[in-house]
Amino acid sequence: MQVKNILREKGREVVTIMSEATLSEAAQLLSHRRIGAVIVRDGNGELAGILSERDIVRAISRESVQALARAVSQYMTREVATCRESDSVDDLMELMTRKRFRHVPVVENERLVGIISIGDVVKTRIEETVREAATLREYIAAG
Ligand code: AMP
Repeated sequence: MQVKNILREKGREVVTIMSEATLSEAAQLLSHRRIGAVIVRDGNGELAGILSERDIVRAISRESVQALARAVSQYMTREVATCRESDSVDDLMELMTRKRFRHVPVVENERLVGIISIGDVVKTRIEETVREAATLREYIAAG
């Protein structure tokens, strides 16, 4: 199974926010869209970083509610690990486990074409396992 198979099913929409938006705006966006991370773009629309709910929790624990009025750019992760559509879901799972994050943007020809969350990976793996079990049951029943 490859990343492109997941994107085909879930779609290619990527929710983004500008780096000068406030942390409060980012929290509202995550809540309204029911997502755990948002891609941050700079003034030129280029990928500037990623901000997840963990970054917001960390900011509030360190700086209290004052952090909510400050810019997303102060709290985002700038070094973003990305993947390609041809990458395998197994490799993506390994990357998420090793680096301890739950979101990976998909980039092709320097363009953002989707985002995969750990929820998407788990869903795909469960579907695969259920399919394999059904095939095995049919095989045994036929024998
Ligand atoms: P998450 O588990 O995705 O909520 O993110 C945990 C931490 O890793 C946060 O500080 C995020 O900003 C950061 N993070 C999330 N996804 C990525 C990624 N693809 N590349 C680099 N850092 C990330």
